[in-house]
Amino acid sequence: SPKAKAAMAAAMDELARYPDGNGFELKAKVASKHQVAMNQIVLGNGSNDVLELIAQVFLAPGRSAVCSAHAFAVYPLATVGVGGECIAAPAKDYAHDLQAMRAAVRADTRLVWIANPNNPTGTFLPYDELKAFIASLPKDVIVVLDEAYNEYLAPALRVDTTAWLAEFDNLVITRTFSKIYGMAGLRIGFALCSPAVADLMNRVRQPFNCNNLALAGAIAALEDAEFLEQSYQLNATGMQQIVAGLDALGLKHLPSHANFVTFHVADAAGVNQKLLKQGVIIRPLAGYAMHDWLRVTIGTEAE
Ligand SMILES: *Cc1c(COP(=O)(O)O)cnc(C)c1O
Repeated sequence: SPKAKAAMAAAMDELARYPDGNGFELKAKVASKHQVAMNQIVLGNGSNDVLELIAQVFLAPGRSAVCSAHAFAVYPLATVGVGGECIAAPAKDYAHDLQAMRAAVRADTRLVWIANPNNPTGTFLPYDELKAFIASLPKDVIVVLDEAYNEYLAPALRVDTTAWLAEFDNLVITRTFSKIYGMAGLRIGFALCSPAVADLMNRVRQPFNCNNLALAGAIAALEDAEFLEQSYQLNATGMQQIVAGLDALGLKHLPSHANFVTFHVADAAGVNQKLLKQGVIIRPLAGYAMHDWLRVTIGTEAE
């Protein structure tokens, strides 16, 4: 966002000073945008930082977390990093299967990871099912609802899940400036949750985990509705372009609600090598147990 760039340029002169460890100004903006109190917000060095804080607070050896097969790779990493066990529930058509996830919850389970939409599949869970799933869980199981791609959802599909925080003390919603806001290199994101959970996360958080430039940029980005709309349109148009191309090639692809498409080829490793030689970097998904699949991010029209 040009507004974010200008705000960061202005913040350059203050880099000799530590950032505001409380992130007051950004939290105030987020609080008014999402209709939550400031003590319900935890800022992170990217939302990955926030995911790790959650794992640090709620997981330990002898405790488990549940995620879906083919879900975001950071969930098992954050879980085993603090000595927990990550249980991957089977997926349904590569999407989260909430029934299977509910069945995977054990007595020692303290956390459930859900990405909606999910990376690397782009799949989306209807909100009524999601809400019923959260209500079905024991109150001492934290649900992390990772909404990194929320802003790419078609307006008709979008529901304000932050309103659910009033009902569920065990719900933690995460958001990021890395995707539609185009600020991945700055590393800034946040969690919205109950004040009690935010307090616990803040106790294990590094005091200056978000830097001056990231804070200044994020504050300005939240005020730039025009950039957000441009970013949304660029993605929607690019998605149509790539999906039309995949269809023309007769390649199967998953229905994506994010800023990438995951498609099927006979020889994913070979296709990936050939694309790399042409200077095109896409994501092979063997690490996600999706051996014949590739994920391509929406770029510009020329790309
Ligand atoms: C990209 C992504 C994030 C965001 O990571 P940051 O640390 O904020 O850059 C979080 N969750 C999912 C599922 C993602 O794909």
